[in-house]
Amino acid sequence: MTIERLMISLRGIVGADGIVVDDAEMQPYLVSWRDNWRGKSPAVVRPRSTAEVSEVVRACGKFGMKIVPQGGRTGVTGASQPHDDSSEIVLSLERMNKVRSVDVDNDTMTVEAGCVLQTIRARAAEADRIFPLLLGAVGSCMIGGNISTNAGGVNVIRYGSTRSLVAGLEVVLADGRVWDGLRGLRKDNAGYDLKHLFIGAEGTLGIITAAVVRLFPKPRSEITAFLATSSPRDALRLLVRAKEAFAEQLTAFELIQRLCIDVTCKRIPGVSNPVAGPSPWYVLMEVSGQSSDEITRGLVEEALQAAIDAGEIVDATIASSMQQSQMLWKMRESIAEAHKHEGTSFKHDISVPTSRVPDFLDQIEPKLVALIPGIRMFTFGHLGDGNLHFNPLIAEGATARPNDLQAVNTLVHDLVAAFGGSISAEHGIGLLRRDELVRYKSDVELQMMAGLKLLFDPQNILNPGKVIAPELLAREAAVITRSRAEGN
Ligand code: FAD
Ligand code: ZN
Repeated sequence: MTIERLMISLRGIVGADGIVVDDAEMQPYLVSWRDNWRGKSPAVVRPRSTAEVSEVVRACGKFGMKIVPQGGRTGVTGASQPHDDSSEIVLSLERMNKVRSVDVDNDTMTVEAGCVLQTIRARAAEADRIFPLLLGAVGSCMIGGNISTNAGGVNVIRYGSTRSLVAGLEVVLADGRVWDGLRGLRKDNAGYDLKHLFIGAEGTLGIITAAVVRLFPKPRSEITAFLATSSPRDALRLLVRAKEAFAEQLTAFELIQRLCIDVTCKRIPGVSNPVAGPSPWYVLMEVSGQSSDEITRGLVEEALQAAIDAGEIVDATIASSMQQSQMLWKMRESIAEAHKHEGTSFKHDISVPTSRVPDFLDQIEPKLVALIPGIRMFTFGHLGDGNLHFNPLIAEGATARPNDLQAVNTLVHDLVAAFGGSISAEHGIGLLRRDELVRYKSDVELQMMAGLKLLFDPQNILNPGKVIAPELLAREAAVITRSRAEGN
């Protein structure tokens, strides 16, 4: 009865075309991109405005219904799907997809949360600017999702993660209040910088309805190079050289292990390795400049020649056309897709201090081989950010044992922790890493996180069970209740 009244109420807020309750129609909203998370929900609600989001949240609060905010559903940690007990509605921001304004002289754009990343990038280009966030899911992911996961991607080395690309936010809080923080300011020290709490919160602290994002001058030239190198240590030496030579003009520096290239060339049509002769590792590097292509290219050639002389690279190809550059980037961006078809794997999105990446790789491989004989290293990622997608594959034709996943995760993440690293560099925690987080964060950090959740969402309405384990939340709630009682 209650659920029926809630549905009537929600229909009244968003209109009949703003709510989906049919099982078949709801399916796409309940399944993750890799099809490894599936949930159930009484309804998918698709508001068109911030006011509607606020009313939906208030109505859900009244009826005790929980909410999973959702963007483009490309998240990889199970955070954008509901649980399977129909206890949450899905609140999709997909119909809030307007670019509200572009302020070219201020280098900002105000966008609604459901804008697809590609659309934002295209609008920036129309204004002769760039919005530099770029990831493989660019055609599907939405800015609200990007902000809520603090997405990384390939240009972080120059422009930072999504966090550094956000100037202001508009957020609907768990009790339905609207926070209008849509300020396009470069400087604002008037109290706590609240927007940062919602960035990377995976929908657990508030629902982002709009954002002011930062734009940058469009580079006049972009030179892409694909380089063969003998080891991550040599790649690191090259990275140091490239940073010294190009400073902020170094816009991407990706490390790729040979198996990733072989598998991608085999599986993805139109992709081939431009470097003759096999090499254990490769680097995809991009340098962007405000000078002409010839000048930037000349500088890249000079730096690469010095790197060859110093033994940091053994071979190099510089893309000679836009098409060749696009092919190289397609190869890089298709690695995840190609990897999906190679059998059982153990995926990790880790970071360690950039200077320690080679040592980490040296140490982890023998440990893994001892645990699972025949395991194949499949590593690629953003060396410039110390962020690796460390996704070893089981031996061809072999089957994983029941405890392998857990054992590999613990081995990898324990070593990451020993290196002072993070078990999630850019994908977030969601459900995937929620329980592991407890092992790698200090008590004080976990208490602060749970305390924030309890402050912003005391009824645990927003994306419950994601990021923070329920037991941890309950424990912190009990501590707060006890201390209040003692205070009285
Ligand atoms: P969703 O998956 O819909 O949601 C993600 C999280 O954000 C969920 O917790 C959800 O509840 C929350 N959320 C969504 N919208 C809102 C909102 N408006 N308010 C509050 N909470 C909200 N990630 C990277 O960081 N770097 C990469 O290079 C990268 N490459 C990828 C490549 C591919 C092929 C794929 C499939 C994914 C990749 N990802 C990458 C992961 C993913 O694309 C990002 O996490 C992306 O930012 C998620 O955006 P989304 O709109 O799909 O969000
Ligand atoms: Zn990545």
